[in-house]
Amino acid sequence: MRIKKFFRTFLLLYIAAICFLTSCGGKTPSVTTASSATTQTSSTTSSTTSVTPPEPKKRVAITFDDGPHNVWTVAIADELAKYGFHATFFVVGNRIGGEKRVYNGSSTALYLFRNGHELGIHGYTHLENYKNCSDAEYQYEMSETVAAIKKFCSGYEATLMRPIGGSISQERIEASPYSIITWNVDSLDYKHKGNDSASEQKENVETIVQNVMSTVKEGDIILMHDIYENTYEALKIILERLDAEGYEVVTITELLGEPLPGTRYSHR
Ligand SMILES: [Zn+2]
Repeated sequence: MRIKKFFRTFLLLYIAAICFLTSCGGKTPSVTTASSATTQTSSTTSSTTSVTPPEPKKRVAITFDDGPHNVWTVAIADELAKYGFHATFFVVGNRIGGEKRVYNGSSTALYLFRNGHELGIHGYTHLENYKNCSDAEYQYEMSETVAAIKKFCSGYEATLMRPIGGSISQERIEASPYSIITWNVDSLDYKHKGNDSASEQKENVETIVQNVMSTVKEGDIILMHDIYENTYEALKIILERLDAEGYEVVTITELLGEPLPGTRYSHR
């Protein structure tokens, strides 16, 4: 009797196990469906993401020191305008008003300002450097340039400063109400400005182009001077190449966002 009962229990358990396995087996197609649904979803997703947005432009800033110059500054601004690019010009205060120079500086600075370029302070008389000059000399160089920019550019308040030759003491950087902007790509255009012949000019221009294009990368700050013909000739080639390589030339403020006063920047 007991054995019979045991077999009956065993049989019932066996049938229950078979039913359970069968019902699991029944679920298998739904698992397959889910997996195929997953596959479908991912294929839908990949078809959505395959429409990639255009690559954002790589940004660099070109900065020009020592102007404005009534010929080359205007020519440079017009060349930048062909690409919709904007640059930053660190001006010499006494060249803006044309008090000591023959440059038609006042209208040139205003021309830059009205065409969306950024103006910064370089100095008023282009002193040797801001490392060894007296506090009185340093303050005069700053305040007179700020006043000249303000006077000739519709009250514009400069916030950026480029030390002469990039030279300034750490103490003066930290005490400055301006952002101190140096560079990490030097075109060395001031070393290649003189031309005794057409072939020498070609060589000089090629050197300036090479000095920039061999090293430039996104976020860089490039140093040039808007007072030389060779700079203008080299810039035409540099802009064409930067544009072809997907670069956008922007102002320092556009490159750095909100540069802080009392801080030195040589790149982003
Ligand atoms: Zn300079």
